Amino acid sequence: MISPTALFALDTLLTEEEREIRSTVRRVCDREIRPHVAGWFEDGELPARELARTLGSVGVLGMHLDGYGCAGMGAVSYGLACLELEAADSGLRSLVSVQGSLAMYAIWKYGSEEQKQEWLPAMAAGERIGCFGLTEPDFGSDPGGMRTTAKREGGDWVLNGTKMWITNGSVSDVAVVWARTDEGVRGFLVPAGTPGFTVNDVKHKISLRASVTSELVLDGVRLPGEAMLPGARGLSGPLGCLNEARFGIVFGSMGAALDCLETAIAYAGDRQVFARPLASYQLTQEKLADMALELGKGLLLAVHLGRLKEAGTITPEQVSAGKLNNVREALEIARKCRTLLGASGVTLEYPVIRHSVNLESVLTYEGTSEIHTLVLGRALTGIGAFS
Ligand SMILES: Cc1cc2nc3c(=O)[nH]c(=O)nc-3n(C[C@H](O)[C@H](O)[C@H](O)COP(=O)(O)OP(=O)(O)OC[C@H]3O[C@@H](n4cnc5c(N)ncnc54)[C@H](O)[C@@H]3O)c2cc1C
Repeated sequence: MISPTALFALDTLLTEEEREIRSTVRRVCDREIRPHVAGWFEDGELPARELARTLGSVGVLGMHLDGYGCAGMGAVSYGLACLELEAADSGLRSLVSVQGSLAMYAIWKYGSEEQKQEWLPAMAAGERIGCFGLTEPDFGSDPGGMRTTAKREGGDWVLNGTKMWITNGSVSDVAVVWARTDEGVRGFLVPAGTPGFTVNDVKHKISLRASVTSELVLDGVRLPGEAMLPGARGLSGPLGCLNEARFGIVFGSMGAALDCLETAIAYAGDRQVFARPLASYQLTQEKLADMALELGKGLLLAVHLGRLKEAGTITPEQVSAGKLNNVREALEIARKCRTLLGASGVTLEYPVIRHSVNLESVLTYEGTSEIHTLVLGRALTGIGAFS
């Protein structure tokens, strides 16, 4: 027997350091996350503060950023960490992606020196948590329509509006909020507890249940002039952050798929149907072979995009291609694995249905599959078909 990753000799593409990082994150997941995650999912709860400190202690929060207490690792190392986290649960990878690639990256890339010093070391250590508020109730795929405003009043800014579906919202110490100003879209750091800033959790989710999702309400929130991120002007600011987070999903989604496939292979080997192991039937082997192919292709694409990112040549269209392909194929793999587990596949005793419903959110956030299809369509034809 050969593992799905060994089939593609994936490790030959990785450095020793990258393999070590992968093992470290896997060990943390095995010890701190896997034994509990089905229970967190079932209860719709996540001990985000404890987990952030644990993940901070192994250096995965903002690990691809340089300085300010961040580990300064390469893109493939970061991707492999995302893969291991998402093999445990997409909610865990979401916590880390939002912290490192959205909130920390926004401050690291666009913040003033004072903002970086104030927030980044504590966020890298997991002592403080951040969220990223771009989506609104009426504007998700089209964030340019946002209604949240920030208006100058003397030296202050006053923010009004509502952000929706915000990961880490109610457990955050700081929200990066994007708002319309007289000079276009700008980003603001809104500390938790600022008067007029309230956060309500989204209830009744049946996907990403081991992840906090919230509404942010800004009602006359007054911030000092220096709360604005000086380096971000226009929508390219938040879109640049999303490109970072999407890259993590290219790897992460394959982690969820790998966990499903390994579970299904083990189950099919044990499960007797018509007096023979389920794995011995050709229909089963066809499913397993097809899934291993898509997994292997997705992993090779992820590593290739990682190397392009490390070389500084990756384009947003290439990240869109990776996100579109890998999430779509991961979801297909999760669904097919679910069939192999029969009725057991619908319980939380196995991780497969949890990954499957989690991936439904991953398909939608950080740009839906339709939006990434349109990005590729525009790249191939030169014609935008968004509106
Ligand atoms: C669990 C979860 C966590 C999230 N976390 C965050 C977060 O931390 N921060 C944040 O800012 N946002 C977050 N989001 C929001 C997410 O990014 C949006 O849900 C996403 O961008 C889609 O927006 P929407 O839900 O408003 O759907 P819509 O934009 O209303 O889209 C509905 C459907 O229309 C399709 N569609 C849209 N435009 C077109 C078009 N031009 N042509 C064809 N089809 C189109 C879409 O693809 C989709 O199928 C999160 C969402 C979820 C589910």
